Amino acid sequence: MKRLIYLDNAATTRTAPEVAEAMLPYFTEYYGNASSIYSLGRESKEAMTKARASIAGLLGAKENEIYFTAGGSEADNWALKATAEAYASKGRHIITTKIEHHAILHTCQYLEKQGFEVTYLDVDEFGVVKLSELEKAIRPDTILISVMFANNEIGTLQPIKEIGEIAHKNGILFHTDAVQAFGQVPIQVDEMHIDMLSSSGHKINGPKGIGFLYIRKGIKIQSFIHGGAQERKRRAGTENIPGIVGYGKAAELAAEQMEEKAKRETELRDYLISRILKEVPYARLNGHPKKRLPNNVNFSFQFVEGESMLIMLDMEGICASSGSACTSGSLDPSHVLLAIGLPHEIAHGSLRLTLSGETTKEDIDDTVDAIKKIVEKLRSMSPLYEDFVRRNQ
Ligand SMILES: *Cc1c(COP(=O)(O)O)cnc(C)c1O
Repeated sequence: MKRLIYLDNAATTRTAPEVAEAMLPYFTEYYGNASSIYSLGRESKEAMTKARASIAGLLGAKENEIYFTAGGSEADNWALKATAEAYASKGRHIITTKIEHHAILHTCQYLEKQGFEVTYLDVDEFGVVKLSELEKAIRPDTILISVMFANNEIGTLQPIKEIGEIAHKNGILFHTDAVQAFGQVPIQVDEMHIDMLSSSGHKINGPKGIGFLYIRKGIKIQSFIHGGAQERKRRAGTENIPGIVGYGKAAELAAEQMEEKAKRETELRDYLISRILKEVPYARLNGHPKKRLPNNVNFSFQFVEGESMLIMLDMEGICASSGSACTSGSLDPSHVLLAIGLPHEIAHGSLRLTLSGETTKEDIDDTVDAIKKIVEKLRSMSPLYEDFVRRNQ
């Protein structure tokens, strides 16, 4: 079998072996319910407290500001819906961006049906929110600003601290979807004026189905899941102890490795970018050239279909992602690529490659060689390309 080259770490990551190992005893040996009085239950509770401390530490937050959820989507839903409900008497206006994850965008659409008003900010050609536009969008009835920390498709990092400053200067709550950023880039909730932050375990080499919402102390949002008194009465349901333990371990590893991993990934990322732009004609880089996640690249190749590229890369043992919203089963181009101004046909020819700490230079070289071959082959079958070449000769 061909060696697998996994370059889709923005979709999900491999659970680190240390994480899986840390989780195992909480399935087999320490299976107690964290709410139970006896010592088996206390083992679970202590493990959860330790994980919460590791996660809070990475954010500069307090332990009791971390609320575990079943993932990033739940945390995003909770932040938006519960804030809207709790602050509706103050106002019914929310500001977000056109490039958010669907967990935010679809929740905003739901809130619009409930009578809230949402402003979706434009971004510039690199996918960065314009601060002047944000300031202009603020109204007396604005209750929440939600801007993602880093984009999952094009990797662009937002000026989070500046956005937080603007929110707080105007007495507005600030939420950030940091699912792609937590554990990858440094985040400090106080310094960056973040009131709520969403994250997910499986994006940082932790397990799937576990996430958290950071809620700054003093914010009055209500429980999202009603039931028992878990998570300080704000998120009912028997805690996913193995998931929480694994997430805590993943956060610990991220804290230890972040700097070195980011440096290594950035070098490989920039090497990948420069090879593609040099060796593949009619290719463009999407997202900001520098202010982007260390592990993200996103290209558009003219006269090529992203989906066809993915299938051919898969035959070479390479896992990647394209710019179509394939998860929704639709062939519409990505809302993010349209928001940065790409025409439909170019957005359709997009490819996202996201590296991990395990990606090697050999992986990158093999991938670039495969892309060159595939793009050439697909273009040789494209009447549009033939036409284009003839006209430009
Ligand atoms: C993956 C992702 C989510 C959803 O997280 P899940 O844990 O898969 O529900 C939300 N926002 C962004 C930016 C993501 O990349």
